[in-house]
Amino acid sequence: MGSLKTNSVTRARHFASDNYAGVCPEAWSAMEAANCDHVSSYGDDEWTKRASDALREIFEIDCEVFFTFNGTAANSLALASMCQSYHSVICHELAHVETDECGGPEFFSNGTKLLPVPGENGRVCPAEVERTVKRRNDIHYPKPNVLTITQATELGTVYPVDHLDRLSETVRRLGLKFHMDGARFANAVVALDKSPKEITWKAGVDVLCFGGTKNGIAIGDAVIFFNREMAYEFDYRCKQAGQLASKMRFLAAPWVGLLESGAWLKNAAQSNRCAQLLDQELQSIPEVEILAPVEANSVFVKFPEHIERSLHERGWKFYNFIGAGGARLMCSWDTTKDDVRAFADDIRQIIVGESA
Ligand SMILES: *Cc1c(COP(=O)(O)O)cnc(C)c1O
Repeated sequence: MGSLKTNSVTRARHFASDNYAGVCPEAWSAMEAANCDHVSSYGDDEWTKRASDALREIFEIDCEVFFTFNGTAANSLALASMCQSYHSVICHELAHVETDECGGPEFFSNGTKLLPVPGENGRVCPAEVERTVKRRNDIHYPKPNVLTITQATELGTVYPVDHLDRLSETVRRLGLKFHMDGARFANAVVALDKSPKEITWKAGVDVLCFGGTKNGIAIGDAVIFFNREMAYEFDYRCKQAGQLASKMRFLAAPWVGLLESGAWLKNAAQSNRCAQLLDQELQSIPEVEILAPVEANSVFVKFPEHIERSLHERGWKFYNFIGAGGARLMCSWDTTKDDVRAFADDIRQIIVGESA
């Protein structure tokens, strides 16, 4: 066992990831309410039905809903169910499915290949999709079958409706299916101020992996099939992959807590607002460079190396290996404006200290 490294300052909250945060009160109390007597297992229970119905209500459509333990499984199994093994999936080169799922989509689809494309600020460009599909049409190439995009993106930007419509038009014309990784879908809904349906099935999305973990629950993603045919035997895929919770009510109940109370939007709004404030604060510091437009709950920045080191020494945790280089500062549902100001004040102090 290594020794416990203690920092001079103990921080309650960090900017490392929105999954550093705990469980929001609404999700926690729903978990507690689900913890009573005996309830049927494997999803045959009232909590699972209620959570699925709540999702159908917010998306205003009779979709098929499944709950998985995490986003990697949700994305991998959803893509597997949309493809044959000889197909390929077009994604952004910084997409989580490409860079952070350890080959899960390829593994669960028995070899379906990911075809990464570039795109400004984390967004897939429709022309790149078209080029990727049209560059080959012979039998030796893995046949493009799905476009997957991330909303909000891995660089903290969002796809506005007109961009989604252009992608949707491209997808339809080229005969592709449309998948959305919504690990931070709630942040995108709030940022765009659109109804969930406008940025999903109305924009041609067939399947959405809706993340709950980063929005304030303990564990879980919902896989939502707007195109119900693509859900064929998906229950078997979940079971085989070890993603069928026997005490399903505890995966489902937190969603009831999030959705019925509106906490999912409140939580996303709080983290988005904090990112906006962080953006403003950092823009006022000339030594800090903002690397991407701040539209959801993350801020990508380039710090001079010594500032980054001093911030870590002062107990702030954040990563600098994610996305397009620089540091990623992530705000969570429980990040406060005081956390943001304390962070910015520390940077100013570091800079003043140097010149003193
Ligand atoms: C966090 C995240 C996921 C899900 O990751 P898990 O750790 O498997 O839950 C998926 N996509 C994106 C863009 C993410 O940020």
